[in-house]
Amino acid sequence: MANYVERVIEQCKKNNPGEVEFHQTVEEVLSSLQPVVEQHPEYEECALLERLVEPERGVTFRVVWVDDEGKVQVNKGYRYQFSSAIGPYKGGLRFAPNVYPGIIKFLGFEQIFKNSLTGLPIGGGKGGSDFDPNGKSDAEVMRFCQAFMTELYRHIGPNTDVPAGDLGVGAREIGYLFGQYKRITDRFDGGVLTGKGIPYGGLLGRTEATGFGIVWYAEEMLKANGEEIKGKVVAISGFGNVSWGTAWQLQRLGAKLVTISGPDGYIYDPEGISTDEKVAYLLELRSSGKNICAPYAEKFPEAKFFPGKKPWTVQQDAGIKVDMFIPCAMQNDVHMEHAKAMVEGGCKFYCEGANMPTTNDALKYLMDNCIAVGPAKAANAGGVACSCIEMGQNAGHTVFQHEDVYAQLHQIMKNIYNACANAGEKYYGNKNALVQGANIAGFERVAEAMMAQGLV
Ligand code: GLU
Repeated sequence: MANYVERVIEQCKKNNPGEVEFHQTVEEVLSSLQPVVEQHPEYEECALLERLVEPERGVTFRVVWVDDEGKVQVNKGYRYQFSSAIGPYKGGLRFAPNVYPGIIKFLGFEQIFKNSLTGLPIGGGKGGSDFDPNGKSDAEVMRFCQAFMTELYRHIGPNTDVPAGDLGVGAREIGYLFGQYKRITDRFDGGVLTGKGIPYGGLLGRTEATGFGIVWYAEEMLKANGEEIKGKVVAISGFGNVSWGTAWQLQRLGAKLVTISGPDGYIYDPEGISTDEKVAYLLELRSSGKNICAPYAEKFPEAKFFPGKKPWTVQQDAGIKVDMFIPCAMQNDVHMEHAKAMVEGGCKFYCEGANMPTTNDALKYLMDNCIAVGPAKAANAGGVACSCIEMGQNAGHTVFQHEDVYAQLHQIMKNIYNACANAGEKYYGNKNALVQGANIAGFERVAEAMMAQGLV
């Protein structure tokens, strides 16, 4: 007979048919929790895992707006409020054409554990829309954001639920969303959204926080295994906000970044994406709105563009050795054949940057064949940690300084790494069992809070 964890996973799949990404993350997280759950039979008695996989609340809504041609457009809007056990719901909004409940729910579920790992008082939630901002005019994006907020404002608030950005939602979208929230409610609730612009409550350093945090986490992984980040050859995917912050911090710490990628293929730069000009160019590529990375090779002719390929085979394609791969683009970007190519090429470290960038079987293969694998919910938690600092800044009617934010973020990333490594050591006898350790360390705090708060 299946054990408690296996039964909850199966039941969750039945209760949420077709939501494959959600099934994937529930399976990955819950199976890590087996040794903890065994020590706590009371969790089963109070259906703690069944409650955890069921969002406290979910809203789906119609978003109606008019495009530049005067045509009426209808999109779907979502907000899943997963867990408020340790704080108000917190998590980004994703605008992308493939958004459906399975994606928002996988992100919202992950967010519970990520936010808990930060050590800060934030619960888990996520939202978004199937709206595609690529190729839309500024005015269209504004009208869409206004229509989206016209429903969302009922469900959020500085002590209720605090959305932020994610794929397709950056400073521009947050600005339009905030403007509409303020117009409807007649309140300057700075802390209702994070990732705001600097003039109206945004936090200095928030834009690069996710990428900076990823590299600080990766640095701890290397250090724990007697290595240093300086001089390491690193390959990443994506060229958006997370990739840019990662590139910038790799440059600051003296590592050599050799790839970025887009839906059109990947760039290999043998000299490294390591100058101020090259790092800043990533921002230009993104803001062009074309969602392609090929122009990098026109601007910097030493670089080579591999059309239609992912950077996971760069070791074979370019005859080099990569010390660490960091996927920074999207979910399920790294499949089994990619994981095998990474290991065969000699790579020993792998750190997730994007949310759930690795399929479950590829992740398992990398965990078995690398020295250390850093999980996204720990490595990319610096973004949401700084969001929480932004909430504190807004609540205190003050402004924090850049250097203070960096110092706090660096300490938070070290704490997160230690929490993962310690839980890995305690339950799996291995300080490099960071994937399981992150799930356990994130879970323990939430479980304790849920037990204290009764059957809600
Ligand atoms: N979307 C980001 C994440 O995946 C940031 C969320 C936030 O700042 O609330 O963690």
